[in-house]
Amino acid sequence: MDLNLLPEEEAYRQQVRAWLAHNLPKVMAERRAGKISGIEWSKKWQRMLYEAGYLALAWPKAYGGQELDPMRQFIVNDELARARAPGVIGAQAINLLGPTLLTFGTEEQKRRYLPPMLRAEEIWCQGYSEPGAGSDLASLRTRAELKGDHFVVNGQKVWTSRSRYADRMFALVRTDPAAPKHRGISYLLIDMKSPGITVRPLVQMTGDRGFSEVFFDNVRVPRENLVGELNDGWRVANDTLYNERNLGGAAEGNKQVFNRLLELARNMKRGGTALIKQPLFRQRLVDYQITVEAMRLHNLRLLTDTIHKRPRGVESLVNKLVGSELTYEMTKTALEMEGNYAPLLKGEERAPDRGYWPMNLMVGMGLMIGGGTSQIQKNIIAQRGLKMPKGPD
Ligand SMILES: Cc1cc2nc3c(=O)[nH]c(=O)nc-3n(C[C@H](O)[C@H](O)[C@H](O)COP(=O)(O)OP(=O)(O)OC[C@H]3O[C@@H](n4cnc5c(N)ncnc54)[C@H](O)[C@@H]3O)c2cc1C
Repeated sequence: MDLNLLPEEEAYRQQVRAWLAHNLPKVMAERRAGKISGIEWSKKWQRMLYEAGYLALAWPKAYGGQELDPMRQFIVNDELARARAPGVIGAQAINLLGPTLLTFGTEEQKRRYLPPMLRAEEIWCQGYSEPGAGSDLASLRTRAELKGDHFVVNGQKVWTSRSRYADRMFALVRTDPAAPKHRGISYLLIDMKSPGITVRPLVQMTGDRGFSEVFFDNVRVPRENLVGELNDGWRVANDTLYNERNLGGAAEGNKQVFNRLLELARNMKRGGTALIKQPLFRQRLVDYQITVEAMRLHNLRLLTDTIHKRPRGVESLVNKLVGSELTYEMTKTALEMEGNYAPLLKGEERAPDRGYWPMNLMVGMGLMIGGGTSQIQKNIIAQRGLKMPKGPD
């Protein structure tokens, strides 16, 4: 098997790399200068990437894409991670909702929502989780009653990332309370400026207000904002969830974290010896490197499946499960290497590695939960992939 890029793909990689080398330092300097808000800066960065032709490369041209093969997007994502470029503010929409709309959306919905999503003109949030409906998502209770040409929505969502400044939400609502729980759900696109919506930010342990509670009080949503069929939202929702767990960039992201850990192990000393030379850490570093490489190969296999349009299985969940747990494990090792000063955060004088690792630990815990916890990924892989029996409830 030849895992090398074709000459034209390699040339494309060099082109992306050169673009990033030219543009990234300038935009990062602009961010540090702080003349525009973080959100405005993130929108601008996304627009730059889009205008350079590096977003949604495989989407149809009619909706803002370029109809290129998925390999191109893979190369771009790889280069972005390699350059440690910041993520785009519309990533959740582009990676999760976008492909779902391409599959289940009406022509009108695709034309209306996809191009502004790419240009960061409309920011989306995901309204799935509720108090009492996280892992057991199908227990959700936010109610939407169809009244003529619109739905009336009442209820509450929680942990809704970006809802503080989002323009729209893709949400799961219960449209038939009498039906079995997976069958009475619908998938709605909701304008966050609608009367009756209240957003109450929650403070995370990082100090950020990245997610919020969202309350709906008689919120009117036009019927044409229904994606897929009425009461068939579970099928649509699972398509979005699949996209959420199929983290194509996870392998390269993990490699970057690994490289940073390696750097730390070279620089930190104990008893006059660099930690990279000490068997305890050395052994762990080797284990991490093996997993990073296995993930890279696994991703190439998934990419091949996508290119050949093979049916999707649970293989992609491995990305989410292993990727998030590996980052967390590497981060814990980094903190161990840093010793007593490890908890110091960015901005504190003695913080090793500019306080990167303790922040990464807090963010990393969230990554093992958001989009479905590690335990849930293991259940799905065991039951659907390995055909193991379901355990007692
Ligand atoms: C950073 C972050 C961002 C998020 N962003 C969003 C967002 O934008 N939109 C959104 O809708 N949601 C979002 N979430 C919510 C996320 O999807 C839920 O937190 C997640 O699905 C878990 O649900 P829960 O918090 O209710 O935990 P619970 O479901 O109550 O789980 C509690 C614990 O029990 C375990 N558990 C539960 N059921 C089982 C089982 N059957 N087998 C084994 N173990 C089980 C879980 O693994 C977990 O350890 C976000 C979460 C985080 C951390």
